Amino acid sequence: MTRMLIMGPPGSGKGTQAARIADKMGIVAISTGDIFRYNVKELTDLGKEAKKYIDNGDFVPDDVTNRMVEDRIKQPDAANGFLLDGYPRTAGQVEALNEMLKASGHSLSVVLQLEVPDEELVQRLLARADSEGRADDTSEVIQHRLDLYHEQTAAVIESYVDQGIVARVDGTGQIDDITERLLQAVYNVRARTGTLPVINADS
Ligand code: ADP
Repeated sequence: MTRMLIMGPPGSGKGTQAARIADKMGIVAISTGDIFRYNVKELTDLGKEAKKYIDNGDFVPDDVTNRMVEDRIKQPDAANGFLLDGYPRTAGQVEALNEMLKASGHSLSVVLQLEVPDEELVQRLLARADSEGRADDTSEVIQHRLDLYHEQTAAVIESYVDQGIVARVDGTGQIDDITERLLQAVYNVRARTGTLPVINADS
């Protein structure tokens, strides 16, 4: 029943790591960026609305994003826990998520923050632009996404520090090593805050 967040700047590898961590922990990884891109591709109403923001590297408005996450975390596969990747990114989203959790009687147990220096992020994203061709991986849009991260999302992480659940993890090096560091960080936070699953000695 673990509910967690993974945050990190664009290009920090949070999508890759979120999938690995969630898999290891037996919970579902939910990426708002992936859900938006799927809807853009399928030309849904949500996708049509979100596209202009995504292409410019702007945040999709909070009311749209919050509603989408609220629907998603109510799905049966999220009942055993989830790892949110890329949400919340604004103060309004933090508030909305708090309300959603309160309504369901749950709380967050860990907030992971992947740290990578800006110079490396820009290099990684430009390399990805060549291989994957994401519309928002152009120099200007990349810079804008980094600016937004530093302006707003870094403060979001701060809002969880008081709860003692934030772990900052070095996001540079080998992908496997980073996964190990993240799993260790999850364990450390849960041991410290007393949210490790209880193992029944009788079973
Ligand atoms: P990145 O973190 O590299 O920017 P994501 O795939 O997480 O990539 O997000 C891609 C885009 O989707 C964002 O630039 C934004 O337009 C939109 N998006 C994703 N998550 C959110 C969110 N929580 N709030 C608003 N917009 C979002």
